[in-house]
Amino acid sequence: MAEKRDYYEVLGVDKNADDETLKKAYRKLAKKYHPDVNPGDDSAAEKFKEASEAYSILSDPEKRRQYDQFGHAAFSGGAGGYGGFSGFDASGMDFDDILNSFFGGSGFGGFGGRSRSSAAQNGPMRGANVRTSISISFEEAVFGCEKELDLNLREPCPTCKGTGAKPGTNPETCSRCHGSGRILERQQSIFGMMQTETACPDCRGQGKIIREKCPECRGAGYISRRQKIKVQIPAGIDNGMSVRVRDKGEPGTNGGPRGDLLVEVRVSRHPIFQRNDVDLYSTAAISFTKAALGGKVRIKTIDGDVEYEVKAGTQTDTRIRLKGKGVPSVRNAGRRGDHYVTLVVQTPTRLSREQKAALKKYAETMGEV
Ligand SMILES: [Zn+2]
Ligand SMILES: [Zn+2]
Repeated sequence: MAEKRDYYEVLGVDKNADDETLKKAYRKLAKKYHPDVNPGDDSAAEKFKEASEAYSILSDPEKRRQYDQFGHAAFSGGAGGYGGFSGFDASGMDFDDILNSFFGGSGFGGFGGRSRSSAAQNGPMRGANVRTSISISFEEAVFGCEKELDLNLREPCPTCKGTGAKPGTNPETCSRCHGSGRILERQQSIFGMMQTETACPDCRGQGKIIREKCPECRGAGYISRRQKIKVQIPAGIDNGMSVRVRDKGEPGTNGGPRGDLLVEVRVSRHPIFQRNDVDLYSTAAISFTKAALGGKVRIKTIDGDVEYEVKAGTQTDTRIRLKGKGVPSVRNAGRRGDHYVTLVVQTPTRLSREQKAALKKYAETMGEV
């Protein structure tokens, strides 16, 4: 494990920082490094995790006291520490849970709503990602395919330009939250007792109250429009992986870009082939004489039948490898896995008189009675 950075350093605050300063510092980092804002960026995810860990410790008075006294050793169970506390592992936690406990409301997606309410302060904000799933066949996953999704996507309402107010009227500033869309609330969270901001219930986080709603969107500010979206599924995709379609998520606010559409791929099972990463597995029956004498057999692969020369004296359950007949690697273009085939020797069950005689003759040569 790499050398852990000092928690105060991680948050960029002074050792005597008060709770409000910690909270502000963490919030700034969480917004900057949140995985939804930095899709596919591992270093951002790592920074987000590091900041979350630092904040989880420093925002808890007891843990902070231990940390101040013993440093990281306080939580590693090492010498001088208290042990017991197993440290912080963000990997098992949903980032949205952390942010929910912090910001309240609908997780990170809530930022979108907040920015809508306080456009002047917040400026353009990227729209939230949208998740959906698609089912494809085993072969489609192996070779890749193009699919079309029929989805309802939100668009800013053309009649009110996204304000939600009837054209000619303006939304009023909410008197409860004074337009911020947020109210402060003390509550128990995973970080201990803390003050959290939650969406204002009067304006539902919008900061504005619409007296006369836009007739087209009924005050929502957006409309749903059915759209056909083409999704390119890369060859080698596996069950449970997601494909990102850029700019097909929720619309951004204040001129911000759209979020992305994340399509989780569900792959059907195959009646013959099993898959493990890039390799395929199957069984093939071979006759008892082919097994003994050797010879050509036909074997089903994902590319179609291939001929394979069985060696004389092949035992049942022998596993052979068909190199490059597996699944293309979705990560390494040009690489393809292998296909492993277990050969199962079939013992004949219905023998003619002639065949029986031949086999008896064979048995005699082996000294069998
Ligand atoms: Zn409208
Ligand atoms: Zn309000």
